[in-house]
Amino acid sequence: MSAAGRVVVVGSLNVDSTAYVRSFPAPGETITAHGLRVALGGKGTNQAVAAHRFGADVELLARVGDDANARLARDTLAGFGLATDGLGIEPDAPTGVALITVADSGENTVIVASGANERMSPAVVAGARERVADAGAVLTQGELPVATIERIAEVAREAGTRFVLNLAPPVEVSPDTLAAADPLVVNEHEARAVGIEPGDAIDGWLAAASAAVERGLAQSVVVTLGAAGAVAAERSDADGRVTAWTQPAPEVTPVDTTGAGDGFTGTLAAALAAGHPLVDAVRLATAAGALAVQQRGTVDSYADRDAVVAAAD
Ligand code: ADP
Repeated sequence: MSAAGRVVVVGSLNVDSTAYVRSFPAPGETITAHGLRVALGGKGTNQAVAAHRFGADVELLARVGDDANARLARDTLAGFGLATDGLGIEPDAPTGVALITVADSGENTVIVASGANERMSPAVVAGARERVADAGAVLTQGELPVATIERIAEVAREAGTRFVLNLAPPVEVSPDTLAAADPLVVNEHEARAVGIEPGDAIDGWLAAASAAVERGLAQSVVVTLGAAGAVAAERSDADGRVTAWTQPAPEVTPVDTTGAGDGFTGTLAAALAAGHPLVDAVRLATAAGALAVQQRGTVDSYADRDAVVAAAD
């Protein structure tokens, strides 16, 4: 636990280019978009911004190319007040790009060209041992190579630092890596992919999260449930018993739900690193997610600590 609330985020960085179109082009067709948005993205980067907005001292370890998108990424992060010295440059790979089209029907298509993100090898993590040891939490996601995610879990264990794993997308990591997650953070779809199978509605999720901790799938589990909030389960230090609880989300009118899960996870890691117990961290993260869906965009939709604390009351 770190009083400073220091979080190391090891993750992806992309520049998202979103074209808004009436309908998708057919193969061979050229169409004109009626809007364009270029924004910083990648789950690791989004979560780093959310953790920083909550007041954590954040170190983002990611890889970019030597190109205009890398400059855009650095400028955007610096604009938020985040340090950029953890962005390693891969001169012969482009910065990761997500090409997104959103049709008037609301449907979308996404093509991710991972570029420099693919260079996030386990060696990147080995070089960050000391920084991980100094942190209150190390946070990663399913967008990195599996061997790298597994290495982060090992480095966190060796350093005695809390390992927060957002298994999005739900890649297949070793049972030891999952077992080290404290918590494992998943949405409904990702939960099913790792064998957290719900019964009926929220009570089913509660029982499934509890059973997952009971059988040692992870140290603790948080399942996000969109407008329904979240359920969580952990084993008590005092008597070893597993407790599970639901955390309803504030009732809000969403305008754009992209990035809500990342806002939730970044805030959760920041709150844990600052020493909040999991129950408080989940309450704060749920409020942060509900605030994020009320704003357009992803990194631009994250509220600051005061707003999150006020919304969580
Ligand atoms: P993901 O985007 O990863 O699928 P969720 O949809 O579960 O994640 O949303 C993450 C969090 O964002 C939820 O736990 C909740 O706190 C908040 N959230 C998402 N949608 C809504 C909503 N419609 N109303 C209130 N809060 C929401």
